[in-house]
Order: sequence, then C-alpha cells, then structure tokens
Amino acid sequence: MPEPLSASTPIEFLKGIGPKRAEALAEDLGIKTCGDLLFHLPFRYEDRTRFHRVAEAVPGPVQVQLRGTIRKLKEVKQKRGSRLEAEFADEFGDILPLVWFKGAQWVARNLPVGQPCVLWGRVSEYKGGRNMAHPEVLTLKEVKSASALHPVYSSTERLGRFGLHSNGLGQAIARLIGQLRELHGQFWIAETLPPAILQLRGMPALSIALEQVHQPEDANAERLGRFRLKFEEFLFLQLLLVQHRNRQTVYQPGAPFARVGAMFNRFYAERIPFELTGAQKRVIREIREDTRNGNHMNRLLQGDVGSGKTMVALLTALMAVDNGYQVCIMAPTEILAQQHFEGFREMLGDLPVRVELLTGSVKKANRKPILAGLADGEVHLLIGTHAVLEPAVVFRSLGLVVIDEQHRFGVAQRARLWAKATIPPHILVMTATPIPRTLSMTVYGDLDVSVIDELPPGRKPIRTVHRTDAQRLGVFGFMREQIAEGRQIYVVYPLIEESAQLDHKDLMDGYESLTRHFPPPEFRLSIVHGRMKAEDKDAEMRRFAEGTTQIMVATTVIEVGVNVPNASVMVIESAERFGLSQLHQLRGRVGRGGAQSFCILMSGKELGKEARRRLETMCRTQDGFEIAEVDLELRGPGDLMGTKQSGVLDLKVADLIKDRVLLEDARAVARRILQDDPELERKGHALLRTGVDRLKASRPDWSRIS
Ligand code: ADP
Ligand code: MG
Repeated sequence: MPEPLSASTPIEFLKGIGPKRAEALAEDLGIKTCGDLLFHLPFRYEDRTRFHRVAEAVPGPVQVQLRGTIRKLKEVKQKRGSRLEAEFADEFGDILPLVWFKGAQWVARNLPVGQPCVLWGRVSEYKGGRNMAHPEVLTLKEVKSASALHPVYSSTERLGRFGLHSNGLGQAIARLIGQLRELHGQFWIAETLPPAILQLRGMPALSIALEQVHQPEDANAERLGRFRLKFEEFLFLQLLLVQHRNRQTVYQPGAPFARVGAMFNRFYAERIPFELTGAQKRVIREIREDTRNGNHMNRLLQGDVGSGKTMVALLTALMAVDNGYQVCIMAPTEILAQQHFEGFREMLGDLPVRVELLTGSVKKANRKPILAGLADGEVHLLIGTHAVLEPAVVFRSLGLVVIDEQHRFGVAQRARLWAKATIPPHILVMTATPIPRTLSMTVYGDLDVSVIDELPPGRKPIRTVHRTDAQRLGVFGFMREQIAEGRQIYVVYPLIEESAQLDHKDLMDGYESLTRHFPPPEFRLSIVHGRMKAEDKDAEMRRFAEGTTQIMVATTVIEVGVNVPNASVMVIESAERFGLSQLHQLRGRVGRGGAQSFCILMSGKELGKEARRRLETMCRTQDGFEIAEVDLELRGPGDLMGTKQSGVLDLKVADLIKDRVLLEDARAVARRILQDDPELERKGHALLRTGVDRLKASRPDWSRIS
C-alpha cells in the first residue's frame, strides 16, 4: 500500500511525472518532492479572460489570446526533419498563419483541427505579413476555467521537451492540488507557522496561501497568499540569524571591560587632538555597553572613508588595556598595518602602552622579542596583517580583535583567533564599504551593526566630474595647476583579473604617457602595481606619503585605507570599468586634508546604460549609503560582495530589494520571539523550531557568511 500523498512524497510518484521527468525536475529546478513543486511559484500571471481579434494582434513581445479554428495543416520537408504549417481563422474570418519548427509530427497528431479552439502566443512579422510560431493550443473544454490571473511558471528547455513548460508545470501543480483536495476534502498541506504568528499579521494558512498563489480567485487573494509566503521565508531566515547572533553575544561570555581606567581617561583628556563627532561618541557608547558586563561583542562598524573609525578602534583598545587585556588589530595590507602602527604610536605619545607591529616582512630576529612580549603580556597592542594568525603568536590575555577594512572575515580565521584566548576576544570589524541595511540584516544578520554617519567637521565635499579621453589635455593642465599649489595626485588604472595582461599594459602605457607630460626634474612620479615586490611597493608608497613624489600611478592596490592628507586629486582611468563601491572607495583617498579635493572620472565616449548611471551617481552624491543602494539596485544582491556563493540570498519567494520593509518587520518579529524564548523551546514555538532546523539543514554553508 503506498503512503498517502503529502508534501514529502517524491515527485516521481505524482501522476504524469515518473522517473525521467522527476530527474529533470530535480536537476533543472531543484524540485524533488511534491512540496517542492508546490513552492515553485508563478513568476507572473496572464489575463486569459480577454480575447483578441486577429485583425488587431500586433507583432511584439506581448502574448495574445485568440479564439477560432485551425485548418489546412501542411507538413513541409526541410533539410533536417520537417516544419508544420497551418492556418488559423478567428470568428471574424481573419487569417493568421501558424508554424511549428520542432516536433511537427507530434504536434500534427495532437492539434484539434477543425474544432473551435483557443490560441495563446506571440505574433511575429514574417515576410511582410504576420504569423505565430509554436502557439499554445487549447480546446474549449480545456479553457473552461479561464482566469484573469493565469499562472506562468519558469521552466527550462529540457523540461519543455518533457511537456513541462510553463503550462505543463501548471497542469502538474493543478493535478497535485486536486489530488490533495480529494484526499482531505479540501486542499491541505501541513501548516508551518504557529497560529499566533498567522494572527499577528492577519495571514492565511499555508494551504490557502499556496492555493491562492497558484490558482488565484482574485488579485487580492494572490497578494495575501504571497505575502504570507514571503513573510515566512524572511522569518525563518531571521530566526536563524538572530539566534546565532544571540548565541555568540548575549549568551557567550566575553572579556569584561568593567571599568574605564587610567589609559582611556588620560588619552581622552590629554591626547585626543580634536573633539569626537557625535557619531563617534555614540559608537563608543555602544561598544562600551557590549563589553562592560561580560557579554561577547561581535560588532560591525560601518563608516565612510575618513569618518574616523581608527579613533574608535584606539579608544576601544584602551578600554581593553585598562582592564588588563591585550588587543590585536588586523589590517589587510602591510602598508596599512604600518600606517596604523605609526599612527597609533604617535597618538599614544608617552602613554605607557606598548605597541608592536607584526607582518610577514618582520625579520625573525625582530620577531622574537615581540612574541615574547605578547606571551608575557608586556605588549598591549599588536598591529599586523594575517601574520598575527600564525600559531607562534601567543597572547597572554587577548581581549579584543579589531579587523580593519575587511568585512568578510571567515569563520575559520575567527576560530584561529578564538583559540588564542580562553574567553573569545571581542570582535570589531570595521569597513568603509557601506552595506545597505537589507544586506546587513541578512548576510551579516548575526553581527550587531554600528554606523558612523557623520564626517569630522570642516571636510569640504570632493568635487567629482566626468571627463572623456578627448578632454585629457585639459585634465593634465589641471593636474599641473594642482601640483604647482603643492598638492599630490593619484592616477588609478583598473586591474580586472580576467584581463590582467591587457590592464597591466594600459597601466604601463599610461605611466609612460604621464612621464612625457610630467617630465623630471620638475615632476616626480611613483608607480605601484601588483607585479611589484611587497617591499618595493611599500617603498614607493612611502615616497608618495612623504611628499617626495607628486603623482602616484597605481592599480587598485591603493584602494584600502591609505592616508595621504596632502593628496587632493584622484584621477580614475577607465572609470566605467569600476564598480560603484570601488569608485567610492577610491574617491575616499582624497579629501583628507584641508584643501579642496577633486575626483576626475575618465572614460571613453560610448558608455553603456549602467556605466552611465554609475558615473552619474558618483558625480551626484558622496553619501556612501546612497551609493550602496544604487549599487544594490544595479547589480542585485547576489553579486554584491561575493555573497552569491553564501546561499543566504537564495530566496525563493521574497525579493531583498522590493520586500525590504517586510524584511525589517520579520526581523523585528524574530527578535521579539527569541527574546522570550531563546531556544524556541515553548510548545507554541515547535513549528518555528522545525522550520529553523530545516533551513539550517538546507544551507550547511550558511555560517561562513560572517
Ligand atoms: P577611516 O574611517 O576612513 O578609517 P580615519 O580613522 O583614518 O578614517 O580618519 C580620517 C582622518 O580624520 C584622520 O586623519 C583622523 O585623525 C581624522 N579624524 C578622526 N576623527 C576626527 C574628529 N572627530 N575630528 C577631526 N578629525 C578627525
Ligand atoms: Mg581606516
């Protein structure tokens, strides 16, 4: 006796599917069970209550519905196989030629020739007239239930060959719904949300929602059904992420920074050269709240370039030191680590805080005292690159790790840091890449987020302009003026992996051309690119930072964090090839000193629509979050920050951009639920727990995302 049909029944056993189709469904659409099929939702609807006249049917992408008869079937032999032709006449006697290029014999056998029927398809122009290729043909009996919302499903070519194009899928789904209706007296599949949640937002039961999305009574019922499915999708995702976050912070002990002590206070009173911005103060307070009472902090700090994140890191570090803990600050490049090292030393002045630098290029002999100092607690602050992750680096009491300019810090790396302390160190991840809220609530949903949304006072907005290659001489003239005023200039070339060879050539050609227009001894140029040795790069970078050279020609290696306040012009070559966030980052290299700064976006004359939008956005605004939103819109969430592989954004029903309000709501609901019942142990939450477990099982990779 076979099991009764349910959501978990393998799709193979649904009438009309069988093993071959089941295999194709699994491979092409990931549909393995009847439940999966029910969650293959229509992506749009067609109005099948309206009929067109052949006389009015215009060629174009819009599908039309015609009523009439098919006649004059004719098979035409071709080089390979044959083509089927026929004529369609509507009720007014107007004629439209029909044609099938594939499956002629099969189609010919199944066409209701001479009987009244309904056609659905696209009209094309053909030999000065019109025709319709591969129309969908239904007998009047089949269209009895014509609806204003006829579901259209996505499918694949192979599934089409199995008769499972949009309509075939629709029929299979209708069959499944019909069978489940028979079985239960009405369409029913097991509910996945507790009644209290359904009531909370006035949502229909799962069965009703699915039924209304596949076979809507009207637009409103469809909307309500889809709303429920989206909400559910977001809710489970947020329950999972918020729960993970709570486990790592609220319920995970962290080093208690119970007091604000001498180092923090002395630094604050004697050494800060400026007033903190309101945003900096707020973030410090947030961090203090996180760390004071023994909870574990896992915080993402976002702030535009130049917003003063380093100062926040330093003050947090001093809190740690005051409480007897050591601090590790990780930078993505040697240059940046070096800059932080020098900057921190200078800012700390004569305060008794020992700061050391550890990068790959620190020699063995110099390493020894640093490692010893870390092990016995004499070194308070270690600044470095990934070198700090090496097993030889042992801390006496590591309490805080700051990760600068690196928003993707893998769990594996984090685990290596955790292993360096008995209590996991607090984590502060700092990034200048503005992350739209929708993404920080999903991809980074398990981190708390602080935002510095205020620049230090007195910064002049950077003037950004777009120039074409034809205007290059004018740009050179402008550069000369700026250099005459004592300023320095970046000229940046793209370096895209796929075209690395060519890009390198562009850079070299550009460098040569610049040396011709800016000849020594009046002008001095630096060049930095990926094929140079790390120490040569550093040396060049330093020459520029010290003001020895006036123009820095570079690939995007200078993107991250480097600080040369005297540089006031950023020229970006082939700007149309850069992504928005990269352009924004690059522009942030200037505007750091007192002088008016400029960003010049160079490009060819011909630009694609998206490239134009990117450059326009850059010229219009300097607000990182606004830029990030445009970026998200242009590229879609899947592409942003390599999140494609993370799987977190594999949403089935909801759309991260269009449904962001719903996402916020679902997150708020998830937080409230977990506040009362952290492990979802209450009886009323059993379904929620099941749903979260199922999600976890379906995305084994999801924890990589933070
Ligand atoms: P980012 O957020 O890009 O890391 P930085 O921390 O490097 O920015 O700060 C950029 C510059 O702004 C530094 O020279 C820093 O000293 C200065 N700065 C930071 N905070 C303030 C402030 N509150 N007032 C004035 N200048 C500040
Ligand atoms: Mg920085």
